[in-house]
Amino acid sequence: MPPPPNTSELLRTERSNSNINISAITALLDHNLTLRRREIESRIESCPTFSNLPNANLSRLELHSRALAKHIKMMEIARQLRISLDDCTSPEFVMLVQAVADDLPTLLHWGMFVPNIKCLCDDEQTKKWLPLCSDCRVVGCYAQTEMGHGSNVRGLETTAVYDKATESFTISTPTLTSTKFWPGSLGKSANTAMVIAQLIDSTGANRGVHNFIVPIRDLNTHSPLPGVTVGDIGSKLGYNKMDNGYLKLDRVVIPRENMAMRFSQINANGIYEKINLDDSTAKISYITMMQVRAQIVAMASTALAQACTISIRYSAVRTQGFDATGKKERQILDYVQQQHRLFGYLASSYTFFFSGRRIMENLKSIERGVLEGTRSVSKYQIGDLHASLSTLKAFCSTVAAEGIENCRRACGGHGYLVASGFPELLTTYQQNPTVEGDNYMLPQQTGKVLLKLLGAIIDGDGVDTVEAEWAGCDAFYLIDGIRRLSENSAAEVIESPEAAIDVALLLKILKRRSSRILVEVGTSINEGLGEGAELSEVWNDSLVQIARVSNAHAGVLLMQSFDDFLKSEELTGKELDAMKQLACLFGLMLVEKDAGDFQDILDKAGVDHVRKAVLLVLKKIRPNAVGLVDAFDFSDFRLKSVLGRYDGEVYEHLMKSCEADMMNRQQVIQPVVSLGGSGLTSKL
Ligand SMILES: Cc1cc2nc3c(=O)[nH]c(=O)nc-3n(C[C@H](O)[C@H](O)[C@H](O)COP(=O)(O)OP(=O)(O)OC[C@H]3O[C@@H](n4cnc5c(N)ncnc54)[C@H](O)[C@@H]3O)c2cc1C
Repeated sequence: MPPPPNTSELLRTERSNSNINISAITALLDHNLTLRRREIESRIESCPTFSNLPNANLSRLELHSRALAKHIKMMEIARQLRISLDDCTSPEFVMLVQAVADDLPTLLHWGMFVPNIKCLCDDEQTKKWLPLCSDCRVVGCYAQTEMGHGSNVRGLETTAVYDKATESFTISTPTLTSTKFWPGSLGKSANTAMVIAQLIDSTGANRGVHNFIVPIRDLNTHSPLPGVTVGDIGSKLGYNKMDNGYLKLDRVVIPRENMAMRFSQINANGIYEKINLDDSTAKISYITMMQVRAQIVAMASTALAQACTISIRYSAVRTQGFDATGKKERQILDYVQQQHRLFGYLASSYTFFFSGRRIMENLKSIERGVLEGTRSVSKYQIGDLHASLSTLKAFCSTVAAEGIENCRRACGGHGYLVASGFPELLTTYQQNPTVEGDNYMLPQQTGKVLLKLLGAIIDGDGVDTVEAEWAGCDAFYLIDGIRRLSENSAAEVIESPEAAIDVALLLKILKRRSSRILVEVGTSINEGLGEGAELSEVWNDSLVQIARVSNAHAGVLLMQSFDDFLKSEELTGKELDAMKQLACLFGLMLVEKDAGDFQDILDKAGVDHVRKAVLLVLKKIRPNAVGLVDAFDFSDFRLKSVLGRYDGEVYEHLMKSCEADMMNRQQVIQPVVSLGGSGLTSKL
């Protein structure tokens, strides 16, 4: 029998075989703030309050209260390190929250409540509420979803009825199904809710859904206020330190000034009015709200990076199956199938990073420009941003959710252990395809914008006008793509697998696919309407195809961002080569996965060459695989995985984690009749 593997030695060998400068890539991923990030991480990791042991053995209540203590300590450290908590999109805020490596129950306060105050409240209101939010005297949540309505916001049943005499709103959840259900931080932590309700003015007219700041708990005692029934919705698949809550409001009265009044208000005379804001203010607010989706794209990259770090390091130390000599076992990372399962997600993580960075920079630059009066933004650009963010949020969080599970499976049985780090990562992440717009709803948003563009090209004032309107937009490529569809019907010629390893070629193919599917879907919708069908029926019949339009557009945007990065010269030499390989793998795998979409764009030989090219690129990536996950620079504290440890001492720590488990604290476990406070009685 061969000797057992020296796992640490295997990882050391991987690292010495890699030819890339890892710290150069780390600096890039850290926005050149690596030292600052490590400073923040070391402050968190050296503080016992942030220990994540023994999270696996704590009850939900213990986990929640422990996470509250982490929140308080995190605020203290933020003050000491001069990190502002007011902008949840700032790199330092993100680094701090990620360093904690645990879910804080107050996260929705910073992530949703504060941005809502900033965007939707007028200057006087923000002056009042923001300072209260900054020191967490007010801890807020965002209460939109109800038990009976989520995606259909117009169907919400909660009402805010205005009374002219008392200049106040009465907020009610009149039915069981109108109970606010799901808002994070609502269950136990928040004392104030941003409640989304139908506004009924003093004439009895329904003015649609608006935002209202509703105090729900006493600021001093934290007890629910009169008319408020509030609690936690119970244990979930994961994310259980977070207190997602329910809320019933029985004629709760709030002053007129608690309606968020930047865009519309009930004035002192009780008249409902839309505020005639200059265009830019409205756009700034809209852009700020869009940042949450950009953050989800970035988070998809980080979550996949974490999953890849665990599975690729583990695959490098795990040996299974004899090599040709029969004397040595192979590292499972050397199986091409394992590479095919894992490296695509590695490539996706890097791809999502570049797209997330680009779209966030774009949003910030528009925001700055509009605020400073140096930049204007058209309705076409706003629509384009909305289309890009909707499709990227849906695409990236879907891939990440699937990817984490596939990385887990690629670790075999040990991936099923809590100690692998996967159960927590996986179950916490699985909410992302649902929150901030369900991933099957968002493609419809993208589809609407792109179909409007198609309509303008076909029926509008001509291509020149459309080109001027959409200049600088992400969807601009479609104008040319659609125009060329008729003249460019021949298949792309790919002469060999090597020739397919070409970012420019892959981008071209992806653009052709996106243009073609959009025209196909647009034509089919028009045909349906032409036959006299109702728009909503035709739309419903087209939903599956509209999702294809959105996905194809996402493929182009992602590949385009990667290509822009490759041309930026931020990296050079071997590191740039490694990035090119990842970009190609991402593009090739998109084609490989949806080969049917590329009929007519590629001939059969072309598709075969793409499949072979995937295998060639996997071989090129293999020597740098561990280096490319090391570059993410996750500390063991953040990774929380015995399988993904930096030192490779997997088996030693696997055993230690078993020995430390609660089940092994006593040899013989006695059957009990009464189980704790649950009131359950065993059937003994
Ligand atoms: C962990 C977590 C945290 C959350 N945090 C918050 C929070 O802080 N605040 C808050 O207000 N809410 C929160 N939510 C709620 C979340 O926003 C909603 O769950 C989400 O919007 C989906 O709504 P729904 O659950 O009602 O699903 P539904 O709208 O009932 O959707 C169910 C299914 O039907 C499909 N569907 C629905 N309508 C259509 C349509 N028109 N066309 C095609 N398909 C359709 C959807 O794609 C989906 O697959 C949270 C949810 C989770 C899981």
